[in-house]
Amino acid sequence: MAPVPEMFDVSDAFDVPEVFDVLVKDARLLVVDGEREIPGGWVAVRDGRVAAVGAPGSEPAAREVISAAGRLVTPGLINTHHHIYQNLTRSYGPAVNGSLFSWLTTLYPLWAALDEEAVYVSTYVGMAELLMGGCTTSMDHLYVHPRPYLVDAGIHAAKDIGFRFHATRGSMTRSVEDGGLPPSSVTQTEDEVLADSERVIAAHHDRAPGALVRVALAPCSPFSVTKELMTATAELAERHDVRLHTHLAEDPDEDTYCLETYGCRPVEYFEDTGWLTDRSWVAHCIHPNDAELARLAAAGVGVAHCPSSNMLIGGGTARVREMRELGLPVGLGCDGSASTDHASLWMETRGALLLGRYRGGPAAMTARDALDIATRGSAQCLGRADELGHLRPGACADLVIWDLHEVALAGAYSDPVEAWLRCGPARAWTTMVGGRVLVDRGEPVLAGLTDALRTHGRIARSMQGLAEKAGVTTR
Ligand SMILES: [Zn+2]
Repeated sequence: MAPVPEMFDVSDAFDVPEVFDVLVKDARLLVVDGEREIPGGWVAVRDGRVAAVGAPGSEPAAREVISAAGRLVTPGLINTHHHIYQNLTRSYGPAVNGSLFSWLTTLYPLWAALDEEAVYVSTYVGMAELLMGGCTTSMDHLYVHPRPYLVDAGIHAAKDIGFRFHATRGSMTRSVEDGGLPPSSVTQTEDEVLADSERVIAAHHDRAPGALVRVALAPCSPFSVTKELMTATAELAERHDVRLHTHLAEDPDEDTYCLETYGCRPVEYFEDTGWLTDRSWVAHCIHPNDAELARLAAAGVGVAHCPSSNMLIGGGTARVREMRELGLPVGLGCDGSASTDHASLWMETRGALLLGRYRGGPAAMTARDALDIATRGSAQCLGRADELGHLRPGACADLVIWDLHEVALAGAYSDPVEAWLRCGPARAWTTMVGGRVLVDRGEPVLAGLTDALRTHGRIARSMQGLAEKAGVTTR
């Protein structure tokens, strides 16, 4: 359990210029990071970055002033595992109550209809939802490529919004015919995957500090790509200095599959293919044994913990407390919108709190531990602990203001951080990315959202085989 942070005033420690771009002031509590909190604190923003923070009475001038009076200010929450396009097949009846493998095989044929328009609108709508849940940075694991340029369409949506986005070039190469799980309509050849991975990195990966768009490489899982592709992808990531992501040890079926197909357990396979490196972060990581967890920790592999997904799939839950004690970076993920069916990082942070305490008792997880996982832990997974996941001067100005005046918080006066995760609100009051307000008073400030929702409804119905009735709205 993390120690209760000290209160301190850092306003004297920085050279404060006369006028900033934005000042967020009068927070009931400002959480700077896992160690520092400032009652009544303020945050000054310049050029998309946190320029200074401080205690009440030392506020500088700014061109725009945002009142956080009576509200909690935290760093933006960071999502380290998602499949955004799956919001087109949410809570799909024929799939929802099966095992992971049956859920996948039911949905693969529907996802074969994905095209650029579908990825653009699902990403646009998905990012609006993420912003409303207090998320300022998200990855997307797009591993279904029935048509070209789908990753580009998602990046296009992120740029139109101004969302901080870690796109991954996912892949599947082992179809049913080759002993894998997906049909050949959604798999590609190794050459196609590797060539397009290089293209996407060259076209979109921004190495600059403060980047809004970065790219990582992400074969889907041990049961959907060949060993050769896993190995070649790790080499490609090394050559281009980009990060690596995949699902690992999500389900007991995966242990059986790896033993039968590769003659080893999933973590051994991961190691054999060159992935046991601090360049990698993996989703779930539920079933490693003690020795495997120690090897992952020694290598610095990050873990995207997905509490809702763990509980809904019902295949086990990650040993988050042990992982953190071993020193593994643990971040938070909402997982795909067809398995978790929502994409609220607030809800996932609360899920991490509940699941941590359910597994390990009340000492195993506090609200501050869960917030730390959703911010600093996630930033570590994405390789950006220096500039994301905290509000120290120099950080990207990605923050959330949470309204503590709601009915659900009546009576919660003593600890705003515990109150935030135990009572609510689930919805951000203000979400700022790079100094830009993208959610204001609980509503997304996105000009294209109404059109995107209309198109999303049309495509989702078509994908699910539901006819659209004349004169009936698609929402
Ligand atoms: Zn996933």
